[in-house]
Amino acid sequence: MLGMRCRVLRWTSAAIVLALAISCGGDNGPTAPDGPVGGQTYTLSGVVTSESSGEALRGAHVEVIDGRHAGKSADTNNSGRYSISGLNGGMSVRASKDGYETSPSRGVTVTSDTTLDIALEDFDGGAEGIVTDIISGARVSGIDVSIPGQGSVQTSGNGRFSLPVSQAGTFPLRAGGGSYLRRETYVSVNSFSEVDLELIPDGMGFDLSFFDHVFRWNGANPTSRWTDEPTFEIWTRRFRCEEGGADEACRRLVATDDNASATFISNAESVINNDLRPLTGGFVRGNDVRRRGHDPGTVVAAGQMFSPNVIVIVLVQNSRTTKSWAGWQTTGSNGIYSGRVQINTRHLNSLCIMSHEIAHTLGYHHPDGQYNVPKPSVMRCDGPTADDRLHGRILYLRPPGSRTPDKDPDWYTANTSMATAMRGPIGGLTTHEAH
Ligand SMILES: [Zn+2]
Repeated sequence: MLGMRCRVLRWTSAAIVLALAISCGGDNGPTAPDGPVGGQTYTLSGVVTSESSGEALRGAHVEVIDGRHAGKSADTNNSGRYSISGLNGGMSVRASKDGYETSPSRGVTVTSDTTLDIALEDFDGGAEGIVTDIISGARVSGIDVSIPGQGSVQTSGNGRFSLPVSQAGTFPLRAGGGSYLRRETYVSVNSFSEVDLELIPDGMGFDLSFFDHVFRWNGANPTSRWTDEPTFEIWTRRFRCEEGGADEACRRLVATDDNASATFISNAESVINNDLRPLTGGFVRGNDVRRRGHDPGTVVAAGQMFSPNVIVIVLVQNSRTTKSWAGWQTTGSNGIYSGRVQINTRHLNSLCIMSHEIAHTLGYHHPDGQYNVPKPSVMRCDGPTADDRLHGRILYLRPPGSRTPDKDPDWYTANTSMATAMRGPIGGLTTHEAH
């Protein structure tokens, strides 16, 4: 009946059609002729004030957060007044404004025009914590800690600081001074958020030029490193190279009838057991090592050697190049995603080349050539050295993508656990190669 009436009257006048479109709206179902009209809506309005001063707050955001009107919102005007129209039924509402705590959500049932005043408490929060030396672990006093636009403090005698901010959010945070490199990082503040900062000393064995050389391509690139521990796969068949040039890894490998030699396998296992921990500050332990066989004649493209979270090590008879090669893939956030090592049969007996190539897949480089690394290093084929240990540990204590001198990537927050922080942007994969 109701539908019929709508249809008949639709042609009579634009104003009547509009009125009927509301009262005949299908979602609310039929209503009794003399009852409340389905779809009738009301206005929720009120004033937002400061709890501490009582003053009306301009620019506060009042929002419906659940029910069928979720997302409807309004900002307060100069008198602190807001008004949200088009509401009907039960819902929760909350108010927020920079510099104030967000109000608890308030349940309200709107069956007529309704008034809801909300008072906001002043925001009470900031970053607080302890500054320590990343090498010695000692607490450091007299360090300047600042959040631009918010304030700055110095760490006390026990290395502590507390830095209030005016509102919740994520802020850049800087810390440095004295004989420490300035750290630039980020902190996420809800209330008083604990953030323990490790700073790198400019000295105490730390050499920024070595660190930048080996891990940052002379400071030009961000660092890259594993964010989950990779597993290792040693291929037990000896391969032959069918396609590739003098200055690249083999692009197409074929499994021969021969097994890889016992020396190759024991060298790989020795490096996995002895060198991974010192090169990564104990992050990569090599607890998961598998051997993998292939049927003779199996053809493998170099790209197929990459698989997620695995470093593959293979022995290749490759007369097309005099070198052994490492390849690795990085994510958009500079995490290392996969690695492969091709040991040339001419290096069969070299433990140091095995160590060197695996180190490439862990984040180590020699941008100016192997013999121009400024200090003894696995990158010069000296095996893991004291400098590799110290600097590799710091590499793995910082998020991937850190820049010189000590700048964290902008997706990172220092007060979030490392495991959570590593769920940063992933992006596409980039493939790298070195000999
Ligand atoms: Zn190399």
